[in-house]
Amino acid sequence: MRRFLRYFAIAILVLLGIMFGKSFFAQSGQLKIHWQGKPTEDFEAVQHLSQSIQFASVSYDNEEGKIKRNKALFELRKWMQKTYPFCFKNANLDTLSGGSMVLYFKGTNSKSEPILMLAHLDVVPADSADLKYWKFPPFSGKIDHDTIYGRGALDDKVIAISMLEAMEKILISGKLPSRNVIFAFGQDEETGGKEGAHQIAALLKRKNIHAAFIMDEGLGVTEGIVPGIAKPTALIGIAEKGYASIKLTVKMDGGHSSMPKKENAASVLTSALNKIDKHRFDEKFPLPLQEFLSQGASEMSFGYKFLFSNMWITSPLVKMVMRGNEKTLASISTTHATTLIQAGVKDNVIPNLATATVNFRILSGETVGGTLQEAKDAVKDARVLFEVLEGFNDPSMVSPINGAAWQTIRTAIHETFKNVVTLPGQVLAGTDCKHYTQISTHIYRFTPLRLNNNNTGGIHGINERIAVNNYMECIAFYRNLFEKP
Ligand SMILES: [Zn+2]
Repeated sequence: MRRFLRYFAIAILVLLGIMFGKSFFAQSGQLKIHWQGKPTEDFEAVQHLSQSIQFASVSYDNEEGKIKRNKALFELRKWMQKTYPFCFKNANLDTLSGGSMVLYFKGTNSKSEPILMLAHLDVVPADSADLKYWKFPPFSGKIDHDTIYGRGALDDKVIAISMLEAMEKILISGKLPSRNVIFAFGQDEETGGKEGAHQIAALLKRKNIHAAFIMDEGLGVTEGIVPGIAKPTALIGIAEKGYASIKLTVKMDGGHSSMPKKENAASVLTSALNKIDKHRFDEKFPLPLQEFLSQGASEMSFGYKFLFSNMWITSPLVKMVMRGNEKTLASISTTHATTLIQAGVKDNVIPNLATATVNFRILSGETVGGTLQEAKDAVKDARVLFEVLEGFNDPSMVSPINGAAWQTIRTAIHETFKNVVTLPGQVLAGTDCKHYTQISTHIYRFTPLRLNNNNTGGIHGINERIAVNNYMECIAFYRNLFEKP
């Protein structure tokens, strides 16, 4: 027995030695690129962002709303043409769907495959019940000391405007971007991108355009959000989760509620929803998360480094911790939420029809079809009919994290942001990128916005705003990127 204990202790010591060794020798994969210094403040550019916010290009799902939005977008385009004369003189312009546009810039190397830069010009509404909590009205574009307020200051007008500012500066200086660049600005990302991104992608396909890489919104420069990393951490989204809304329908005899049967359409539906809620979708570390953990470990404080450098043995523990928080659970599992329920017309009448919509966000490596089957298997009730609603998509492909495109983007980030760490990440929400999968296999979801616990609430929320400093960094980032060979 004593001998066994001795061997056991030795084995534990060896194991700990290996684990400490692995975390101690975890090599940093960060680029050694010089930060170019803080960009100087450009008051005109600040005015421009403020003015662009004042065009209330709000996306609604109804026809009336669309007409209003497109009118605002028409005015916004006229304003852009006046504000960025060099861009519009140098580029070829396509306008489409009543509010979207594509700008084609020739580069010094005019034979180069273009890079495709995406942004959307629409914004979400500002809830009227929340207006009293806004420091300044959401479409005022108010410049308050070092901050610009309003819808679009983070999502996503600031990106279109920063790109135009950067390109205008290159062209004014008598230069061209080093390679061909395309700006594609959609009009309806916030309602699915059917008229904007989808049509733009079809247009580019018809024109036989293939992009060296695509950049769109997604992740950003996080501050104090990635556990164990104190430095600002630029997360570049190399994949996004899939999306499917599944409608559940139950039809059964209705009638008066004074002599009810044991079950009815509403109760059968409720129990189906309960079963889906109780079901645990597979938990695993999808490829983008594995890449994040393996590259991120070396940048983390020792505890996290120890944990993530030794996933061969610590993964059950990591999974257990991630399961406990809805934000981290979404990174390791398909998630779902019941978003719509309908049944009944009167309090004393048993409904003969009950429906519910459950929205699924599907983990990288899974499929819409597989998720549907899993939901059906969880419910196991033939009275419940399942239908996948239009607008679904499988999880995206995972973009490569080696090669020229990846290095170019990382280099521009290191040049722009002081002391930054760059890492691959996975986007949990959906972006316009899903429409562009035929244009390039290298799709990166990154916006040069500093995101922290203080400002992220503004995205689709109250007091959306950007610090002038960060806006200057945005412009500098795009300029650095466009000037890269
Ligand atoms: Zn957006």
